[in-house]
Amino acid sequence: MKSKIVPKEAIPQLESDEVISHETNLPYPIVHYPSRFGSFFGFQETQDSPVYYCSCQKTGLEVYLMNDEFNRFSDIPKVLREQIGESFLKSIQYEENLCHVCNKVAPAFGFGKTINGTKFHAIYGLYINGVAYSYGISPFGRIRDASLIPSDIVPYLITTQYDDKRLDEQSVFDFMRYCEDSVRMRMGYFTIGKKWTTEIKLLDIVKKLYPEYTVIHQYPLDHLRADIFIEDLDLVIENQGEQHFKPIKVFGGEEALKKTKARDEEKAMLCEFYKLGIIYFTYQDDLTEKSVRERISSYMNGK
Ligand SMILES: [Zn+2]
Repeated sequence: MKSKIVPKEAIPQLESDEVISHETNLPYPIVHYPSRFGSFFGFQETQDSPVYYCSCQKTGLEVYLMNDEFNRFSDIPKVLREQIGESFLKSIQYEENLCHVCNKVAPAFGFGKTINGTKFHAIYGLYINGVAYSYGISPFGRIRDASLIPSDIVPYLITTQYDDKRLDEQSVFDFMRYCEDSVRMRMGYFTIGKKWTTEIKLLDIVKKLYPEYTVIHQYPLDHLRADIFIEDLDLVIENQGEQHFKPIKVFGGEEALKKTKARDEEKAMLCEFYKLGIIYFTYQDDLTEKSVRERISSYMNGK
């Protein structure tokens, strides 16, 4: 089952615009690909039939068209731009269960390997982009419709200081991972958000233990970020997943492990420079209020 979703052999990267392929494992086998960094797929039953979109991509496609495309006609009044967009949206035809994700099969062409990306992303990156739009944010981190952002991630997304409509670099990364997990879940494939969920769990415990303190998630340390920072105690708390200790394939193997370790060392040095304390929780720790309180108190007592 898994091999159908993420096959052993590499899937060719989508190289150009206007790629059309014939994929018999889909209900409508003629697949119209978007451009290299695009998001949305068209499907056709025969060469003479109309091109449909899969209804699972509807929200994303609408957010994209209304904001990124029709909003560009800036020489005409905004109200007309919206009218043109809306009448265009009505002309689009959708059908259920047309796409690769709905049918749990890999596309013939993928997004291609990215530096920090997983193999799953290399295959389904275009669909992951589409999910990003459906959550109201473009794949490059521009907020298009804040009302669509899932409420469980809203508190953890940070915008850049100079533009409150754009997520900062770390938040774009976290958000795209969240979108990737959403596609993985729909396909019944294992998710990668463990680091994210344990970090949030740790954050919640710390906030609960110290309601009177300012607790900051993803605190900026120069160009890096501390997972959690308790301002009143000048204390950084790092949550280290398995990938900080041993090479893990989905996180980039040996090469990534080296980089992770170097980054951890750099963080420790920055903490020393700014005279901040630092404590670590690892994937082997059982995160409870008791264990977290004990770790923090013993650090404070030892100071
Ligand atoms: Zn679909």
